[in-house]
Amino acid sequence: MKLIFLGTGAFHPTERRHTACLMLPELGVVLDAGTGMFRVRDRLATPTLDVFITHAHLDHIFGLTGLLDIVFEKSIERVTVHTTDKAIAAIQSHLFDKALFPVDPICEFTELTEEEILPEGGKLTHFPVVHPGGAVGFRLDWPGRSLCYVTDTTTTAKSKYVKQVRGADVLIHECNFADEQAEFAELTGHSHAKAVGQFARAAGVGRLLLVHTNPLSTDDDPIGIAAVRKSFPGAEYAEDLMEIEF
Ligand SMILES: [Zn+2]
Ligand SMILES: [Zn+2]
Repeated sequence: MKLIFLGTGAFHPTERRHTACLMLPELGVVLDAGTGMFRVRDRLATPTLDVFITHAHLDHIFGLTGLLDIVFEKSIERVTVHTTDKAIAAIQSHLFDKALFPVDPICEFTELTEEEILPEGGKLTHFPVVHPGGAVGFRLDWPGRSLCYVTDTTTTAKSKYVKQVRGADVLIHECNFADEQAEFAELTGHSHAKAVGQFARAAGVGRLLLVHTNPLSTDDDPIGIAAVRKSFPGAEYAEDLMEIEF
């Protein structure tokens, strides 16, 4: 199954990274709708589009305002945004307030259920993570393959959500900060390099890809990946427009 990284950065877009957006093009499934969301248009080939959102911070929802163009002249039956009731309320009353956006959104909003059915015999489950205002992580399972997406949280090897992530083939995890900024990571509800490596090792995942990196660090190694690799030697950065098969 193919996954495309449409946005791998945090907070605001940079020349190199748009903000949070992943796509499973064969399924018409998108995870988070950050500024990378406009890239869905060129890759949308399904009659339905399901967008699952972790939380309502702007770097994860801004792309919803571009949906009119994303589906323009596409034969699309429906666009559904799945997230928590709290995030739905925030998106509807703020992002789509008429003072900010002049027309009604073209998507329907629905609260995440305990187990969402995905095409090809898959399911999506969610679990809470620690982040200011709350956020959820996602686990997607199909027979013989699994993927977890965890962004915007402070992690440790003892984080409670280790049990939901355990044994996943692929873990896509945020890594906003280098270890030198560990204190700031804690303060802002984000993760730093060493802790992400320790978490991935504790969870026993097969592959670790890092996203949601600090936009002020635009070089090839924004968070000091050697510190992640001390615990999880195969850790890699995800880059915008990178594709993986899992
Ligand atoms: Zn974020
Ligand atoms: Zn956030």
